[in-house]
Amino acid sequence: MRIGSGFDVHAFGPGDFVMLGGIRVAHSRGVLAHSDGDVVLHALCDALLGAAGLGDIGQHFSDTDPRWRGADSSVFVTQVLALLRDRRLAVANVDVTVLAQAPKIATHRDAMRRRIAQLLEVAAERVNIKATTTEGLGFLGRAEGIAAQAVVLLTEP
Ligand code: MG
Repeated sequence: MRIGSGFDVHAFGPGDFVMLGGIRVAHSRGVLAHSDGDVVLHALCDALLGAAGLGDIGQHFSDTDPRWRGADSSVFVTQVLALLRDRRLAVANVDVTVLAQAPKIATHRDAMRRRIAQLLEVAAERVNIKATTTEGLGFLGRAEGIAAQAVVLLTEP
């Protein structure tokens, strides 16, 4: 078995929605990002790559590469999954924490779980989504942005 962790942050900017776990979540702000700025999928990719010993998302999908401008981050997950498959690594489970004062994700949690499970081609029971505020503290507490962390366990043959 191999464990990996990932963490990502994006600052809020102009807009009226954020992408979280491949789900469009209405919000009073958007995020500043080269891709679609989905912190959940970016943290997830880093956790998957970390567990596989394959570096980080920036090495695979550079934020200066025009191919990834405005990219749907689900593409990153799909490509990372292919790298794992090449190495005969399988996803045992995924645990994600979203850190934000807003938006609230409670009503989107199940959709995010299903979407991530679909992207990883595993049962939804293998994916868990948690959320927390930072009790008003720091840049997240001031609602300057949104963060996510992910932990994954991979199994080897
Ligand atoms: Mg990111």
